[in-house]
Amino acid sequence: MHCELCIGNKIMDIILLIGAPGTGKGTLAQHLMRRRPSMKHLSSGDLLREAVAAGTPAGKKAGALMKRGELVPDNLISVMVRDFLRKADPSACYLLDGFPRTHAQALQLDEILADCGVTFLGAVFLSAPESVILDRITGRRVCPACKNIHHIKTCPPKTEGVCDLCGEALVQRLDDHPATVSRRLAVYRDATAGLITLYSSRNLLIALDSNVAPGDLAEQVLSKL
Ligand code: AMP
Repeated sequence: MHCELCIGNKIMDIILLIGAPGTGKGTLAQHLMRRRPSMKHLSSGDLLREAVAAGTPAGKKAGALMKRGELVPDNLISVMVRDFLRKADPSACYLLDGFPRTHAQALQLDEILADCGVTFLGAVFLSAPESVILDRITGRRVCPACKNIHHIKTCPPKTEGVCDLCGEALVQRLDDHPATVSRRLAVYRDATAGLITLYSSRNLLIALDSNVAPGDLAEQVLSKL
């Protein structure tokens, strides 16, 4: 069957990064990409934030839900991920951060990849104690331009409030405020945590405690692939 993902001889690889908000999926992606230049970060949250900023119809639907810490509809995000992968670099290994987040999305991902022979390398599940998660999220500051992630205590920028990589002003995500964070954690427990069983039954699960230095975590991931 023809598939737009399968361009040329090299077929892309996919690694899923799954975990509650604040378990360090984006930071892990940054450290993996430093070690493996063929790896690229695809964050479903970033795709949605870009759509919200651009005011697209999907962005308009998603914005209010995201502000409240709720999930956006499965089809809305699945179509965005599918459209991204159709135009993506076939020689890359994509770190799929934040998708899937429900059982239905996991099945939709299977459909996106099914006929394409994409090599599904593993599903990395990150866990951390709730106190660590809260500290990480409330101290997180992100760069809206290059997506670099700082933390006011553990990874402060050289100049306060300014991204080390591109010089843009750092921001705190609206959904990183404490009231929304507790809702996001509840949504994770209800909708996403069950994916552990699914990927474990497929022998794709790489479960790791993310309460370690991000560089060490990246090495652990690479040693298990
Ligand atoms: P994140 O940047 O991964 O923390 O995602 C931020 C927000 O975007 C989430 O709290 C959801 O509102 C929405 N979102 C991101 N990915 C998904 C997804 N796979 N399914 C549904 N909603 C999502």
